[in-house]
Amino acid sequence: MPWFRGSIAIAAALATFVIAGGWYVSAKLRETAKASPSVELQINGANADADKKEHVMNADGSKPNVSPLPKTDEEWRQLLTEEQFYVTRKKGTERAFSGEYWDTKTPGVYKCVCCGEPLFTSEAKFDSHCGWPSFYQPIDGLKDKRIEEHVDKSHFMVRTEVTCKKCGAHLGHIFDDSPQTPTGMRYCINSASLKLEAKQAGDAAKGTAEAKPNESK
Ligand SMILES: [Zn+2]
Repeated sequence: MPWFRGSIAIAAALATFVIAGGWYVSAKLRETAKASPSVELQINGANADADKKEHVMNADGSKPNVSPLPKTDEEWRQLLTEEQFYVTRKKGTERAFSGEYWDTKTPGVYKCVCCGEPLFTSEAKFDSHCGWPSFYQPIDGLKDKRIEEHVDKSHFMVRTEVTCKKCGAHLGHIFDDSPQTPTGMRYCINSASLKLEAKQAGDAAKGTAEAKPNESK
């Protein structure tokens, strides 16, 4: 019966194909598991903790000497006042003329209230009469790497939002409406996003001496 022999041959060929196919797929899966740590973590849950620890290490494998920044809203709330939290983590805006620093003339460095990164200096602060602390440039000039710019299309306007690069805190917005300043720019920053570290009396004399060469440029 040739049809019967034919069917056996076809069945055998199919079985070989299925077995070979199965072997190929399982081999591929093993390869993928080796190549991708996330697949391996699912297979071997014990590695998940080791993986987490790796992320808080420095690039050279040493332990970082600062505690990692908070991640959740709850963690940030523990560090900040209600207004600081609303402004920095929820992109809020304090009322004009209500903040701590809008009219401050004290020499010093303005740091990020969330992570302590130095962002602005009193030398670049000017009186813009807008009700918020205004600076014509960040601490390292207009090409500052500590501040990030983002297009902000909220409230039916297109503005440039600025955030702290290190921790993502919302700081305020930039406007190019201040021709009276050396850069023409106004970094309009919420007091609630800043912490002023005032210069000590001894630093002040040093600071003036340091500032002079820049002024003559
Ligand atoms: Zn920050």
